[in-house]
Amino acid sequence: MAIPKHLQLEFVTPERAIVHDHVDEVELPGEEGDFGVLPGHAPLLAALRTGEMWYRKGSETRRAFIAGGFVEVVPDRVSILAPVAERAEDIDVARAEAAKRRAEERLAKASVVDFDAERARIALLRAITRLQISRQGRPDRKRPRL
Ligand code: ATP
Repeated sequence: MAIPKHLQLEFVTPERAIVHDHVDEVELPGEEGDFGVLPGHAPLLAALRTGEMWYRKGSETRRAFIAGGFVEVVPDRVSILAPVAERAEDIDVARAEAAKRRAEERLAKASVVDFDAERARIALLRAITRLQISRQGRPDRKRPRL
């Protein structure tokens, strides 16, 4: 079978479509580490962790925040379903900074084994990841160095 030239990227949350496009390369935060997908990739199902995903179309790279979920890869398609995700340009920096502050305050008060501390750690990871993606996140013209 001929290797497909592009990937159809379908990236959705229960609330909205994040990306629906033909792309050349996708990089995802897998539970077991980051991994890349090029056209012709072997079929794969994988769980995702909270982190940054990016995809390249020609010379343009775009990024998005992703909070877990699943991906299905077939040779000409990448389908991502995430509970929560935002394109880099849609991240509200003030909101993420406020979430980061709240999480830091809760962590400062909580004991190490506390359930609330665990929730605050997750909230802090989400906020910090959003801020990092937003900072570097406007569409750019070169491949990012990860
Ligand atoms: P917050 O405490 O600010 O609500 P959160 O991490 O608890 O942050 P989520 O549960 O991850 O929020 O997301 C709830 C909804 O709000 C989702 O639709 C998500 O895309 C959106 N959202 C959360 N934070 C931001 C942000 N900083 N910028 C843009 N959208 C956001």
